[in-house]
Amino acid sequence: MHQFALVYLFTASSDLYSCPLAMTDGAARTVANCAEDAIKARALAHLTSRDPARFWTSGQWMTESTGGSDVGLSETLARQDEQGRWRLHGRKWFTSAITSQMALTLARPEGNPAGGKGLALFYLEVRDAQGRLNHLSVNRLKDKLGTRKVPTAELSLDGAVATPLMGLSEGIKHIAPMLNIMRTWNSVSCVAYMRRALALARDYTNRRSAFGSVLADKPLHRDTLDGMQAEFEAAFHLTFHLVKCLGRVEGGQGGEAEQAMLRLLTPIVKLTTAKQCVALCRRRWSVSAVRVMWKTPDCLPCCVMRKCFPSGRAPPTYWRWKPCGLRVWAT
Ligand SMILES: Cc1cc2nc3c(=O)[nH]c(=O)nc-3n(C[C@H](O)[C@H](O)[C@H](O)COP(=O)(O)OP(=O)(O)OC[C@H]3O[C@@H](n4cnc5c(N)ncnc54)[C@H](O)[C@@H]3O)c2cc1C
Repeated sequence: MHQFALVYLFTASSDLYSCPLAMTDGAARTVANCAEDAIKARALAHLTSRDPARFWTSGQWMTESTGGSDVGLSETLARQDEQGRWRLHGRKWFTSAITSQMALTLARPEGNPAGGKGLALFYLEVRDAQGRLNHLSVNRLKDKLGTRKVPTAELSLDGAVATPLMGLSEGIKHIAPMLNIMRTWNSVSCVAYMRRALALARDYTNRRSAFGSVLADKPLHRDTLDGMQAEFEAAFHLTFHLVKCLGRVEGGQGGEAEQAMLRLLTPIVKLTTAKQCVALCRRRWSVSAVRVMWKTPDCLPCCVMRKCFPSGRAPPTYWRWKPCGLRVWAT
């Protein structure tokens, strides 16, 4: 709870640095769950360090051009060399935070069956002790919208040395803790951005004068902001309920029912808050800073309508159109 409260306060000012931090938190959980002692000791010491010189972030290399949702289609192969080290060969299509020092990734040990169960979870370090890349190359950086501070790469793995973390199959199952922690970060980040959007909208509302008074004095404008506030508060409570469940389960206090609830809530809250965040931030642009967008704000068409019909009564034409689906007057 404490950590996610900090994430909530930090994210909206982090310029998306929260993306590698989310992967790092997820990697720490996964490594703590399943790595052998030597890797656990080495990786966790870096992933959880508060010393910037020692601190590592982690990437998560799953997506290939064959599939993002259907990761079981992954083509990256894992082969053992003469010294018994596992080496990965393949292409990863969407790897965020390529500046990270380590990654958790999926590959199919040679001879394993097709499909998700035949994939294994691997740990790898991106560079060796001399700073040379671990038999991998960056083909290009993605030209993404809005997340340029987090370089995302297409990678070729050409014999990258890696260590299997929990056997040689069921990799998707073993990497799931990482995904679930990242989904929780996603939800917390969404409510953080919603709160920032509202703070900016309210600030504008208190400064901007239109038609003789500040926007904060216009009932229609206040009603719009109050609707956004209600949406944000509901999302906030839902998200921090999820965080509470996660904390209880991780702390060994959650019983079977709470574990089941956590599994159910994690993807639902991620999806819900992601949609709410996009919708609320879009509305924020329409209730303030409209000049930047050359767009008509939400309330203005309503005001224009009221001017057309000062008596407040709908014109006769409206009643003729209403059965055809026109509902404007009611809103
Ligand atoms: C900013 C950004 C950063 C990313 N960073 C990383 C990263 O660091 N590491 C990484 O591994 N990946 C990363 N990805 C890739 C991301 O995880 C994939 O894009 C995602 O898994 C979806 O895969 P896809 O793009 O291949 O879409 P597809 O799998 O082709 O899906 C396309 C659409 O079909 C829908 N769909 C798929 N299957 C079904 C189904 N069974 N039923 C109904 N609908 C379905 C999907 O919901 C989606 O709407 C990143 C993506 C973005 C946008």
